Amino acid sequence: MPVFFIERGAIQGTTASLTGPLARHLKGSLRVHPGEHVWLAEAGGPRYEVRITAADRDHLTGQVLAEIPPPPLRLPRITVGFALIKGDGMEWAIQKATELGAARLVPLITARTIVRPKAPRTSHQTQRWQNIALEAAQQSMCWEVPVVAEPQPFDAWCAESASTACRLILWEKPGGLSLRDRLRGKPRPDSVALAIGPEGGFEPGEIELAEHAGFEAVSLGARILRSESAVLATLSLVQYEWGDLG
Ligand code: SAH
Repeated sequence: MPVFFIERGAIQGTTASLTGPLARHLKGSLRVHPGEHVWLAEAGGPRYEVRITAADRDHLTGQVLAEIPPPPLRLPRITVGFALIKGDGMEWAIQKATELGAARLVPLITARTIVRPKAPRTSHQTQRWQNIALEAAQQSMCWEVPVVAEPQPFDAWCAESASTACRLILWEKPGGLSLRDRLRGKPRPDSVALAIGPEGGFEPGEIELAEHAGFEAVSLGARILRSESAVLATLSLVQYEWGDLG
């Protein structure tokens, strides 16, 4: 049962008032009608069980039956910076990172990034990626929706990540520090930044730049994963050791 994210103010007291795209989606696509119960939530806020009392084409009203407070803020807050991936690999990576609890997603432009955001379309594309994160969060009943940032140059993002407590760049260099050794038994930081490269990998100069900016290079072992697979694997391992997975 998905949880639909609502704008702040859609719930007043025990009454829910839904308009716009969500109302049209519920009424039009999902054929929700009076008497049915839906779950609504403000991103990061409480979750409400609502019985629909009236539904017309683009306005629904409902009665709040139950309110569930959000769980305490989950630590660590994880930002995933990953090189733009071509085709539907990008959407798949956004969806999986959302399901695995990433708080922020930053598409990166690195030296070997094949996909280059096209200037006038960038914000339209970023909005589309944000909607993918929203839908993934709704389907997985997440309490929060990750923020999808506009694509950024790799060096700018490394500099911007200076305040993140633990910064890791995923590098498939044989014999490098393993992610497992970096995580296992170590104190849980409040925030983590993960950098994952493009299909062609990071350039050595990018690894140096990241290390100079406080990132630690870590390896997932001998298997070379696709960028999108590395996003899923790395997030899973961090959430397993330091988060709430497993
Ligand atoms: N240059 C590699 C392919 C890059 S894989 C080659 O052709 O051999 C794409 C990205 O996924 C890499 O930049 C890295 O960030 C991550 N990745 C994939 N496998 C990895 C591994 N075994 N260890 C660390 N990072 C890995």
